[in-house]
Amino acid sequence: MFTNEKEKLRLKFREEWEKYYNIKFLKDQGFKRKICSKCGKGFWTLETEREHCPDQPCQFYEFLGNPPTSKRFNYIQSWKVIEDFFKKNGHASVRRYPIVCRWRPDLFFTIASIIDFQRLGKEGVTFQFPANPLIIPQFCLRFNDIPNVGITGRHYSCFCMVGQHSIYDGTQGYWKDRCIELDFRLLSRSFGIPEEEIIFVEDLWVGPGAFGPSMEYFVRGLEIGNAVFTEFKSINSNVEPMKEKVIDMGAGLNRFAWITQGTPTSYDVTFEPILRYLRKKTGIKYDYEFFLKYSKLAGSLNMDEVKNLKKMKEAIATQLNVTVDLLEKNIKPLEAMYTICDHTMGLTFAIADGLLPSNVGGGYNLRVILRRALSFIDDFRWDIDLVDICDLHAKHLRPICPELSEHINEIQKILDIEKKRFHNTKLRTKNIVESIVQKGEEINDEALIKLYDSEGITPELVKDHVPDLKIPSDFYARVTEKHMEEKKPILLETIDVSGLPPTEILVYDDPKKMEFQAKVLKIIEDKYVVLDKTYFYPEGGGQKSDIGFIGGLPVSDAQKVGDVVIHRIIGKLEEDKVVDCRINEYRRNILKKQHTGTHIVNIAARQVLGNHIWQHGAEKTVEKSRLDITHYDTLSEEEVKNIENKANEIINKKIPVKIEVLPRDEAEKKYGFRIYQGGVVPEDELRIVSIGNIDHEACGGIHCENTNEVEFITILKTKRIQDGIVRIEFTVGPVALKNLKEREALLKETAKLLKVKEEKVPEAVMQLFENWKAKRKELRKLKRK
Ligand SMILES: [Zn+2]
Ligand SMILES: [Zn+2]
Repeated sequence: MFTNEKEKLRLKFREEWEKYYNIKFLKDQGFKRKICSKCGKGFWTLETEREHCPDQPCQFYEFLGNPPTSKRFNYIQSWKVIEDFFKKNGHASVRRYPIVCRWRPDLFFTIASIIDFQRLGKEGVTFQFPANPLIIPQFCLRFNDIPNVGITGRHYSCFCMVGQHSIYDGTQGYWKDRCIELDFRLLSRSFGIPEEEIIFVEDLWVGPGAFGPSMEYFVRGLEIGNAVFTEFKSINSNVEPMKEKVIDMGAGLNRFAWITQGTPTSYDVTFEPILRYLRKKTGIKYDYEFFLKYSKLAGSLNMDEVKNLKKMKEAIATQLNVTVDLLEKNIKPLEAMYTICDHTMGLTFAIADGLLPSNVGGGYNLRVILRRALSFIDDFRWDIDLVDICDLHAKHLRPICPELSEHINEIQKILDIEKKRFHNTKLRTKNIVESIVQKGEEINDEALIKLYDSEGITPELVKDHVPDLKIPSDFYARVTEKHMEEKKPILLETIDVSGLPPTEILVYDDPKKMEFQAKVLKIIEDKYVVLDKTYFYPEGGGQKSDIGFIGGLPVSDAQKVGDVVIHRIIGKLEEDKVVDCRINEYRRNILKKQHTGTHIVNIAARQVLGNHIWQHGAEKTVEKSRLDITHYDTLSEEEVKNIENKANEIINKKIPVKIEVLPRDEAEKKYGFRIYQGGVVPEDELRIVSIGNIDHEACGGIHCENTNEVEFITILKTKRIQDGIVRIEFTVGPVALKNLKEREALLKETAKLLKVKEEKVPEAVMQLFENWKAKRKELRKLKRK
């Protein structure tokens, strides 16, 4: 929906407010609806005198140094208060979902609590709630506000969104009245905010395919939460009410603590113990009173909205009776500290949830915040280690996310390597920048982006060598935005199968059936056959298709186009005839072993290397398989050997491979999001392949029934193919045997040439090498003479 359409909708909702915002509970409490004298928005208040809404710029923060409550709550306590309140009111408290959003093909990261429960299926967005109603402390990552992080006092890239959700269909769940009642009671009774201080502002929310009115709630100018009532579906400009309406209330956890403490920034409450540590470690003085005055004046500071930041700072400096330089000197280190706190929190969650900083996909965004944090530390020459800060985050957040601490060793390993890479980049920067300057080329925004993308050089590093360089304030927002585009599902169908019924795919029903009869429904472009049913496995999940014969003609490929399977043949067939079909059994069996082997190598790699191992891609052919895994370094020989041994151990343990078809929600609940190793499957029912109880994956391939059918696995080679991705090439069973035999033959040949026994080959080669070295030395000596 375009902005002007949203504006139209806003006006419609405002005009027909009785239909959308008429909340009985508010009326019963004595709230009056008013129209803001400044901006025209509708709002609900108990204050009879009030004429303007509490939102900026109609009102600024009035709680800084002046909180409305007598009780003070810290970050963790605030969650406990919220959780207790909602549990007492019939909500299930649900553990956070991963911050790395593996269940959505269009997102790298979880950007709001409602994302946890949305699935993209063939019919668009559907909801999948583990309980109704529920409450969840969902940690989120967003990269669109990066220039504001650490500066405005309220912007984050990583934050905890308290999600209050309910599905309402008239019989179960609750709707607007109950939602607002709960939020009002939470603020007034549990947090002790005076009732007349709570103001509700009418707004609306428009998302892809759905929209609805919303009520934001404010206290002393601070927006605490936003209750969205998703009740309309819009498909191709047709609007209809949803059968199951959704309560989507989201509130920043930090806001609850902040409103009760009135600290200069919300970072003071969110990162309280970490900031204490950083101040001690850096010796930075925190002049609370000065900063409070500054924060009050800078309350409206937003890089997007404030075009002339310099003028703004000048005005603030004048009011505080200091020079701009002195102001900056006081403020900058604190802003850097806040940013470091935010970025390390994001890194802690993302790495714990299995993502690595890299140059691809979401890993790109992680490296941006990592390098940004390192740049700040270097700029101020602070003696701080990021891992220590991650550890403090994990400890601080333990009551909400006890699992973070388990991953500190992994975080340490990954950050250490990343730090080395960053410092290597730093060393190279001087030469690269100097050569650009010598060529007389201008370092504009575009050049900065290119330097970052191709060399990993941050603008801060460039500035070390080009002091008067202007860094665009939205630099990091721009580079990350570009990369967020990458995760988009691509399905390009060029073969026309319109009008054809879905092919009955029977390979799963009877994977052993190699011969069958079927009717030819259609021949497309003289080379594709569509049958009414097929036992051919169409290529999918990285597994190549079966080959064989249809009506005596060779089949070289089978592919799925929508619900229709097309078989590629060489020769001519007639439509409407029943034909004999045969599948190449040898190939199928090898592919089955290769495929099952891929699952096994993936498990082995995870057991040897750590929890951050995810399948990035896979391909299984008859000759060999390749598995691309997420890992931060090249594999050592020892690691490769350990993976191979582990894989063969799994084979020798004769573990049964079980297939079950489960509804998506049940599968996720039972096995977690690790099932999405091969990416998201857009089905309501998932085919889960389990190897004993050590691994569970949603997978559509053909597998062995027991790991021992794979016989054994040989790793052929491994290679770091790109930043953060390692490729393992391996082969299984009879192919591996053939491979070993070839190697053996090669060894025999070598032994024969060296005239030694096979086990003496390494020794003989060493001897040969030593001889050669000695001869070379001699030769050099002679030459010098
Ligand atoms: Zn207003
Ligand atoms: Zn599989």
